[in-house]
Amino acid sequence: MKKWLGWRPEYANEKYDVIIIGSGMSGLTAGVLLARHGKKVLILEKHFKAGGWTHTFRRENYEWDVGIHYIGEVHSKRSPVRKLFDVVSDDKLKWHKMDDNYDRIIFPDKEYNLTAPRERFIPDMAEYFPGTEDKLAKYLQIVDESVRSGQNYFGNKALPEWLSSLSYPFMTKKYFKYSDRTTKDVLMEIFNDKKMLGVLCGQWGDHGLPPAQSSFAMHAAVVRHYLNGGNYPVGTSRQIAETVSDNLENMGGKLYVHAPVEEILISNGKTAGVRLTGGEEIYAPIVISSAGVINTYSKFLRNAPNFEGYSKQLQTVSQTPSYVCLYMGLKTSPEKLQDKNTNLWIYPGDNHDENLENYLQDRDKEFPVIYVSFPSAKDPAYMAELYYNMRKHVRKCRAAVGQFGPRLPSGGRRWGKGTPPRAAKERRQAQARLLYG
Ligand SMILES: Cc1cc2nc3c(=O)[nH]c(=O)nc-3n(C[C@H](O)[C@H](O)[C@H](O)COP(=O)(O)OP(=O)(O)OC[C@H]3O[C@@H](n4cnc5c(N)ncnc54)[C@H](O)[C@@H]3O)c2cc1C
Repeated sequence: MKKWLGWRPEYANEKYDVIIIGSGMSGLTAGVLLARHGKKVLILEKHFKAGGWTHTFRRENYEWDVGIHYIGEVHSKRSPVRKLFDVVSDDKLKWHKMDDNYDRIIFPDKEYNLTAPRERFIPDMAEYFPGTEDKLAKYLQIVDESVRSGQNYFGNKALPEWLSSLSYPFMTKKYFKYSDRTTKDVLMEIFNDKKMLGVLCGQWGDHGLPPAQSSFAMHAAVVRHYLNGGNYPVGTSRQIAETVSDNLENMGGKLYVHAPVEEILISNGKTAGVRLTGGEEIYAPIVISSAGVINTYSKFLRNAPNFEGYSKQLQTVSQTPSYVCLYMGLKTSPEKLQDKNTNLWIYPGDNHDENLENYLQDRDKEFPVIYVSFPSAKDPAYMAELYYNMRKHVRKCRAAVGQFGPRLPSGGRRWGKGTPPRAAKERRQAQARLLYG
């Protein structure tokens, strides 16, 4: 497990072109892309680990990931998401494709499987909802259109300001057609079926809002992202930050943990650098905050001259309710527990908006959604690590028995791994001989 350098005040004297606040996926990606273009990049992370929601933690022999459970599209080397991961990790990040049945939507009366590839979507759903093939085809068409229109919408943000404002109305119009409608409106218009709405919105936990509140564009982006299945980073999600930060450091970039930023410094109306909570000031002409919109506008820019304007915009952003995560370590292999690594979405009923509202009104009501994921069942490196740990323990046992254990009658010692076939063979061979193990 990689350990990152902790911040020290003397590092503040170095000169940087860009300072990035936060070492989550967004900060790391921006950092590597800028370093590839010759910029001297500094990433400051307040946690003691890099990676944000991609980091993992250990207790005893168990390791858990805190965020990432599956990522779509990266199994195809040609997909834009995979290409970006390959660039930022310098091809070091490897992926393991999950079983085809990536998600299961579970209601009290029935379960529905979402299974890759995309071509299975219509026939599978039509089996649950006979006679809906045409409506499902229309639904997929609208999902595709919505995602495609997002390219112009997001592309507009990358243009120089004058060009962006000039082209804004044309580049965003189509996307707003989808993003300004709720998922419920669009789906009810196509299907007019509440059960279908419940099933097709069974992944709402992925973006965080139930169908009457969520933007259809967000729903479409998530659904389409997973239609060809899910993937998991080999060696757990921490491999994302480990490989990407290695790449950054190889290009001369710096990443320090224990480096909490307090404020973005502004001088003569321009970005000048950042101040850490310890008081050190670090200067750079460009500062990128990847620590979230609320932190950025209500905290880092609180003394900026145009703060009033920012805080007005901030009133349009609300924070989502929190969630509780239970990390369980099981004393058996994933293979013994189940033969699939499907994510489970468990609901008290198919009306997601009602489930959430009931729970927010009365916390004794059933949870509006329970999501169950099995990272070790998705990760081939888990078995390799298990074997490595087993060998480590065998070596320790050898050392202890070698020192204190009894001797074979001949006075010699013989060792081997205690696999069941080997034990059976040795039992047969040993017959009357004395054998330890
Ligand atoms: C429970 C959960 C499950 C998820 N599952 C999936 C999934 O299966 N698939 C998927 O694609 N996405 C998933 N996501 C979403 C995905 O993990 C996030 O969208 C993504 O990791 C966010 O990256 P980020 O860089 O924007 O933010 P973050 O990862 O939040 O990074 C922000 C960083 O900024 C740091 N920071 C904050 N304040 C300061 C400060 N003052 N100074 C310095 N540093 C600071 C934080 O410590 C953090 O490291 C999940 C998210 C959650 C919460």
